[in-house]
Amino acid sequence: MIFVFTKNPRKAISLILRLVCCLGMLFFGSCDLFSTHYGKTCYRTEHFKIYYHEDEFTPQEIKQIGARKEYLRKYINNTLETHFDGVIDVYLDWYLGENPNAEYTVGVFESRRYVMDDDGHEIAHIMVFETLGGDCDYDVMTEGMAVSLEYVDFSENATGGNYQNALEMYARIMSMPDTSEEENELDWYKCDTSITSQFYDRYFDYSSGSYLRAGAFLIYLRSHWGIKKVKQLYGELMQYTSSEKIDQTFKELFGATLPELEMEFTRLYVTEERKKNQAGSK
Ligand SMILES: [Zn+2]
Repeated sequence: MIFVFTKNPRKAISLILRLVCCLGMLFFGSCDLFSTHYGKTCYRTEHFKIYYHEDEFTPQEIKQIGARKEYLRKYINNTLETHFDGVIDVYLDWYLGENPNAEYTVGVFESRRYVMDDDGHEIAHIMVFETLGGDCDYDVMTEGMAVSLEYVDFSENATGGNYQNALEMYARIMSMPDTSEEENELDWYKCDTSITSQFYDRYFDYSSGSYLRAGAFLIYLRSHWGIKKVKQLYGELMQYTSSEKIDQTFKELFGATLPELEMEFTRLYVTEERKKNQAGSK
């Protein structure tokens, strides 16, 4: 997630609460807004300042969290082919609970549950902004980049960080038979709109499926054309532009328009996979 002024109601509520909190702290004369509220203790690693409450994390846990953050930072730099060397502020157990956020230039706000199973999504936002020139107007691109940089291994014997696993997971979810009878988690994942329309209509629907799809699509581009082209894409589409310009940019970088690329991506990771599933179940 990234915290911006947005039409997303959940974020709007969090913004209001944050403002109320800030005003309250100003009233009571706090000088260091975030560190005072989000944690009295600061654990410092080479690239992170981690603010936390001592009664919520053991020294051992905080040490592990710091080490993992450093590891993730390295992984993201390697994948992005960047050399981000700045310090990121991390505010743990943010009072709003379960929704982690990245707030550009301020740092990341992460819940206990998130940070104990950290995939690097939030620090990836900050690193992308810092190294690729700022925030992208297209949320599908902003979130897709962060998802594509998550360090997650979905396989049984997790060893971590393999982009092929993310693509396989996407393929698995998208190619499963529809379950129209009852609502379940799978439907929530599959309830999404195409990448093409999320660019053309400048609208990201924030469903889990859209996050996963955007990330998988960028991993697909990265694995076929390399990270440099994906970074160029990010730079070219940083500001809202016309559908024609979007297609022109995709064509220049990847040899096909966005709808064409999405069709091929879907064929490879959904249609083919579905065929395999059907063949397997006979
Ligand atoms: Zn995000």
